Formats: sequence, C-alpha cells, structure tokens
Amino acid sequence: MAEKRDYYEVLGVDKNASEDEIKKAYRKLAIKYHPDRNPDNKEAEEKFKEAAEAYEVLHDAQKRKQYDQFGFNGPQGSGFGGFGAGGMNMDDIFSMFGDIFGGHGDGFGGFGGFGGGDGGSRQRVYRGSDLRLKVKLSLQDVASGVTKKFKVRKDIVCDDCHGTGAEPGHIPETCPTCHGAGMVNRTVRSMFGMMTTQSECPTCHGEGTIIKNKCHKCGGTGTVKGEEVVEVKIPAGVEEGMVINMSGKGNAGPRNGVNGDIQVIVEEEPNDTFVRDHQDVIYNLLLDFPTATLGGDAIIPTIDGKRVRMKIEPGTQPGKSVRLRGKGLPAVQGYGSGMGDLIVNISVYVPKTLSSDERKAVESLKGSDNFMGDSTTKKHIFERFRNFFH
Ligand SMILES: [Zn+2]
Ligand SMILES: [Zn+2]
Repeated sequence: MAEKRDYYEVLGVDKNASEDEIKKAYRKLAIKYHPDRNPDNKEAEEKFKEAAEAYEVLHDAQKRKQYDQFGFNGPQGSGFGGFGAGGMNMDDIFSMFGDIFGGHGDGFGGFGGFGGGDGGSRQRVYRGSDLRLKVKLSLQDVASGVTKKFKVRKDIVCDDCHGTGAEPGHIPETCPTCHGAGMVNRTVRSMFGMMTTQSECPTCHGEGTIIKNKCHKCGGTGTVKGEEVVEVKIPAGVEEGMVINMSGKGNAGPRNGVNGDIQVIVEEEPNDTFVRDHQDVIYNLLLDFPTATLGGDAIIPTIDGKRVRMKIEPGTQPGKSVRLRGKGLPAVQGYGSGMGDLIVNISVYVPKTLSSDERKAVESLKGSDNFMGDSTTKKHIFERFRNFFH
C-alpha cells in the first residue's frame, strides 16, 4: 500500500485552515474525482477516497485535534485506534455528502448514494453505532498504565438468526426489483447535464435482499440487546480528555454489518496529595519552623506510594521550590520522552497557639535583628508615603 499522505497536504490546505476552508477544499476534490465523472479510473477513485478520509478526520474538531497530536496512528501498542485503520468504503464517503453538499439544491443530485469504481454491484452494509465510555483514573493508574474492564450494554449479534435477520430455516431472498444489486438506474438532470445514475433500490433499501420471514427474536435487525465485557488497555501518561478508540467494539452492525467503535474518554480523579501539571506533579510541603531555620530532613511522598527523604538547607525560605528529577509521570508511549519531575513547593507553618514554654522561647527571639526579614522595598514605600503626606 502506498504511503499515506498528510491529511492537510491531501486537501491542499494549511494546518490552521478554518472549518470552512477544509469543507471547500474537500468539495472541490470530491467533484473533480467523483466516480461518476471518472468511470473505471482507479487513480481517481483512490484520490476520491483519500480526500474523503482526510475530510472525515479534519472536519471533526475532536478527530482533528487527535490527528494534530498523534498523527495517523496512536501511540504504538497502546490501544489507540488511530485513523482510517480500516479505510473508508464508498458508502461511508457518500454518507458524508449530505453534510457537505446538503442545502445546495438539485445541482448535486447526480451524486446520489451509490456508485463507485466496481461496476455498481455494491450493496448496503449497515454500521453499528459507536459507544462512549468514561474511565476514571487515579494518579497511580496514570503513572503505571492500567487495564480496565467494563461490562457494556450494547447491540450484539442475534444468535437465533446469526445476524441475518431471517427466521431460522429461512434465508434472505434476492430482491426482485434490483436482482440483488441494491440499486436501480435513474436519469437525473445535474450540473453536468443529463446523467444516468444509480440510486438506492426502493424495495430493499439498498440491501439487495429482502426478508420475508423475519427472525422472531430480533425482529429482522439481526441484533439484540446484550452485554459484553470489554477490556481496555490504558497506556501510562494519559491526560484528562484523551480518547482511546476501541475499533469494532461498539454496537454490532445490523444484518451482519460492520461493528461500531467504543471511545473511551479519560477522566482524572482528583488527588489529595498531589496536583498534576502535565508530566510534573506538585507537592505542597508545609515545613515546621525549626527545620526551616536549622535545616534537616523532610519526608516527601511520591506517586508510587513510596517516600523519599529530602534535605532541607538551614535558612530555607517559604516559597522555595525543589525539583526531584524523574519522580513525575511518564510521557504517553511514543509521544514525548522521559519522566516528569516531582516539584516540592515549600511553605513554613506558623503555629496558631503556643504553650507557655513555647511562648517564652519565641518571645526571647522578638526584637533580635537577625530575625527581622529584609523588607527594604516596603520601607521605601513607607518613606515615599511619608514624604507625600508631609
Ligand atoms: Zn435474529
Ligand atoms: Zn432491491
């Protein structure tokens, strides 16, 4: 298979192109390479499909964001589905046309639903809908990566008819109107003159077959409500709002069609101890006054549940930050590298109440020049105030 071209390059737009520019660029290409204008031209068909795939991703804000961030494929082996993994079929492409050519009157009527480079024996394939799941992750889950299991309620293949929709003992019959082709010819006026096009067969709605004896269990759809346990592997380093696509795990396609996907959306649980800042984690250390003054050790918790000893220099000031290198979070596999840091922000605790002995000790320090902070800037302000008022 030829190497995939960048989606922006395919549409001939730049990375900052607006939604409207993307739509216009796609429209132009779709008209130029449309199979109805390029019969039996494989190259045009490929270009047509390539443009459709690029448009499919770039016109969807969320997919575009993911593509900008991750490229064609997600992080390797991490369960990200990537884009265009299975390629798009012509039905998918034509189903987008309502979106892009909608509202333009009959001028584009010639592009009705079907047709394609293979002589027009395409039958409708149904696709099951996508499901969305939210997964709540602790900081520990994010640090190590985790496999989560879900019980998902979804459409599954009817086991009475094995997805055909026909009552056991019966098989779907070839449609008498279109003889199985799923479409019929019709002549329409279009912007290119009179054109013979193919449109969906009104008898079988494009399926090519009709079911006279519908399956009693599923009523002919070939799917029933059911449950399935799905397992999703979440790579380490993911962040709030990231989407992991599980291709083919969504609702089963009616009548043995194509399965939808499951999109797993990452949610981060708040953590009592740490605040996350991308790959770094922040820990707020409230240091006791004697240790800040005299120096010593502080015990710092880390994400993996262990503790590390951190040296406190004598005379440590509140507001100081210490970076513990490599004690943060990993990058999502294949995107970015190395580990983030654990940032310790130090503040100093001032007791609210004192015992009489403590009070004496503190009082004995009062007035000592050595305990006066350097408030030079403030003094200047006060002096300026004095000059102003006198
Ligand atoms: Zn059934
Ligand atoms: Zn038919």
